[in-house]
Amino acid sequence: MTKENKNKIAEDFKRYREELKSFLPISFCVVNINNRILESNNLFEKLTGYSKVDSVGMKVEDLFLEKEEIEDFFYDIKKKEKLAKKNLTLVTTKGKPVPVSISGLARKKESGITGYFLIMEDISEEIVKKKEMKEELQKKKKELEKKTKQMGDSRSALLNILEDVDKSYKEAEKERTKTAAIIENFIDGMLFFDEDRYLSIINPKAKDFFDIETEKVTGQKLEDLLTCSALKPLIDFIKDEKNQIKDIFREELRMGEEFYLEVTTTQIKKDEEDLGTLVHVHDISREKRIERIKSEFVSVAAHQLRTPLSGIKWTLETFLEEASEEKGKLDEDEVSLIKKAYNANERMVGLVNDLLNVSRIEEGRYVYEPEVIDVYEAIKPVIEEYKENFKEREDLNFKVNKVKKDLPDVRVDVEKIGIVIQNFLDNAIKYTDEGDVVLSIDTDDENMIRISVQDDGVGIPEEQQKRLFDKFFRAENVVRKDVEGSGLGLFISKNIIEAHGGEIDFNSTEGEGSIFYFTIPTIEDEASETIDDF
Ligand code: ADP
Repeated sequence: MTKENKNKIAEDFKRYREELKSFLPISFCVVNINNRILESNNLFEKLTGYSKVDSVGMKVEDLFLEKEEIEDFFYDIKKKEKLAKKNLTLVTTKGKPVPVSISGLARKKESGITGYFLIMEDISEEIVKKKEMKEELQKKKKELEKKTKQMGDSRSALLNILEDVDKSYKEAEKERTKTAAIIENFIDGMLFFDEDRYLSIINPKAKDFFDIETEKVTGQKLEDLLTCSALKPLIDFIKDEKNQIKDIFREELRMGEEFYLEVTTTQIKKDEEDLGTLVHVHDISREKRIERIKSEFVSVAAHQLRTPLSGIKWTLETFLEEASEEKGKLDEDEVSLIKKAYNANERMVGLVNDLLNVSRIEEGRYVYEPEVIDVYEAIKPVIEEYKENFKEREDLNFKVNKVKKDLPDVRVDVEKIGIVIQNFLDNAIKYTDEGDVVLSIDTDDENMIRISVQDDGVGIPEEQQKRLFDKFFRAENVVRKDVEGSGLGLFISKNIIEAHGGEIDFNSTEGEGSIFYFTIPTIEDEASETIDDF
């Protein structure tokens, strides 16, 4: 080959190398043994910002943040004598850090290593992607962990529920056995009718009360049980016309000569659903017997007391008459003492009369003698008597308020109505320290006469008001005041008014006063016929 040809080939090779360098699709540079750049390509320029000319002579470590690692990198190339690779941070001419993957290969001649080929690849995108993938992976991992935890939680929740259900079942079973044992051994009789009114449970005590066999009655319908003579009185008592069970609270049912039951019915409901009705029967024969004996005793004692009290009354009256006829026979102190004894005796007579009236009411022997009379005429004598009595109490102002001039006739037992008004007025006097006592007579829209006595007295404690008409009941505020009384007046009054087909009631505020009132039908009203039942 001629020298000319050789030069041409060298020339061509150089050009070819230059072209290759510029078209190489990766950033590239050649460095000498001292790590100084000898040449670079276009992409190197693009990546680093250093022009091909400016980069010549630059130390490779000046391009990177991790200076010490460059040394290791070259050491690796030398040692391994093969392609070394490392990830480093390149700093561009604008100071921007770019993550790159740098690979290097030693340039060799027979004399040994003369320098290195270095290629650098921008791996920012790859890093971002890796980061994103890592984050995604992390997210998925977390979700998976969460789901696993949720599944674990649901599993243990399910196990807990199963455990609870099992426990509740056992408890319910225990409760059921307990309830059954209570019903079996209950000292009162119990009959349970299901929602369709079939007798489903009857406990041993009820069986004893009615002397029946369980098998013969259970499963039978309410109205069909009327054919069972032992149960008939009870069924008649609790059943209404629609063959439903009435609401009954502690009502007496007479089963025989001295056999009384107290009956209560309770609708059993769960969340508004009707489960049936429980009929509870309690034997009150013993209480009734004691009540009867007590009432007989009271009646006998009161009868026995009447005669001596009348004797005392007569004697004291004689003394007082003599003292007024024959001045000087008794001195003032003696007269006053006898008057006191006379009044005390009168109170005793009143009490004995009350007791007798109570026993008569209870035995159904309280006799009424009704007559048709103008209502004002009927009560006028009592009013007149009390006008006098009030004169002794200057601190009380007694007023009579007859709202209408002409009042309709009523059919009443005048004496008994008098007892009620006396009781109202006596109480107003006893339980009022000062103020007005107003007796009003009026009619209402329903052909009823309404008579009331209003006072400014001590009133009745709210929590005791519902017991006011009970026999012997006295509210604690008057007992505390030490005012005399027996707690019988209102009981008798209620019986009298109800026997007249009327109603009796009161309104009261403790410390402010009370109004007691009753109504009785006027003669025009059909209800007045009830008087025939006296
Ligand atoms: P008592 O003989 O005790 O007055 P009552 O049957 O007439 O018997 O009254 C029963 C109770 O009712 C009284 O003891 C009293 O507590 C209360 N009471 C009745 N009337 C009044 C009233 N006007 N003011 C306050 N309390 C009253």
